[in-house]
Amino acid sequence: MSNILVTGGAGYIGSHTCKALKQQGFTPVVFDNLSTGHEAFVQWGPLVVGDIQNITELQAAFARYKPLAVIHFAASAYVGESVTDPEKYYNNNVTGSLKLLQVMREHACQQLVFSSSCASYGLPSVTPIPIDHPQNPINPYGHSKLMVEQIIADYANAYALQATVLRYFNAAGADLEGDIGERHEPETHLIPNAINAALDATQTLTIYGTDYPTQDGSCIRDYIHVADLASAHVLCLKKLQTNNDKKGFMQAYNLGSETGFSVLEVVAAIENKLSTKLTRKIADRRPGDPPQLVADSSSIKNELGWEAQYSDLPTIVDSACQWAHQELLRKKSL
Ligand code: UDP
Repeated sequence: MSNILVTGGAGYIGSHTCKALKQQGFTPVVFDNLSTGHEAFVQWGPLVVGDIQNITELQAAFARYKPLAVIHFAASAYVGESVTDPEKYYNNNVTGSLKLLQVMREHACQQLVFSSSCASYGLPSVTPIPIDHPQNPINPYGHSKLMVEQIIADYANAYALQATVLRYFNAAGADLEGDIGERHEPETHLIPNAINAALDATQTLTIYGTDYPTQDGSCIRDYIHVADLASAHVLCLKKLQTNNDKKGFMQAYNLGSETGFSVLEVVAAIENKLSTKLTRKIADRRPGDPPQLVADSSSIKNELGWEAQYSDLPTIVDSACQWAHQELLRKKSL
């Protein structure tokens, strides 16, 4: 019995992690309300359609599958939307996590890998951002992730929860075998939007701000290949499983490539790959966007031996373009 409950396992990062779990001998049991996830992305274990805000649905999933541990992705994750609709973010991300933790306790399930975010840092005072950098989020999404981190730390102390918190930088790219990839509706992320504009001459890429205090004026982000994120989750899970101590703890790690690329550099890499010029429009800054976010991922490298394998920009762009081509064919066949 090696069931791992993966909330949000039908989503982008969740589905890639399910594939990696299966490859390492676990059975990923996806718990997802399919509000943003896709049934077609659940290919490596059973799907339970349920909502983390629904205690009864959570209890039924735990009773049936008796998971050894939980990897918790399910969350609302659009920074811009969190500014205009914070209630949704506090309900889904904070209340939903509390309910999940309650049902974990009821079922004596004590191990958790939690999907957090570099948005929990806010405006960093140093770059790359070390794991012990103060966390002062600047948008409700970041606040909601930080609140859950704090809840996990308190539960670790009081109820012996054993947890790893992964603060991701910008997840990007797609499965190298083309099984799964990024499918957001609406799509707000830079790489898929830029590829779509490059492949479809009727589309325009909006660039949010070229007046930032960066080299070319556009925002700098640290893009990490989704397959590298997935491998980190499995590594953390295995580490939790080998822990024989019954004491609770919470360990946090940053997950990034440690290299920053500006929006304009990413656009140029995509134009280069697809041998085209895309139509672009320069717009105002997007609310909630810090100028620069680059990870210092040294703690997970040093402590767990994790290394990014696919997070160079060409591999990210190649796999994202391959997936975008597949998606175009799929949409045409509908
Ligand atoms: N961005 C952009 N145009 C888009 C989407 C994103 O200029 O259509 C910019 C965005 O303002 C940010 C960077 O690209 O500076 C990365 O944004 P994304 O939404 O991909 O990830 P985030 O950093 O918000 O998690």
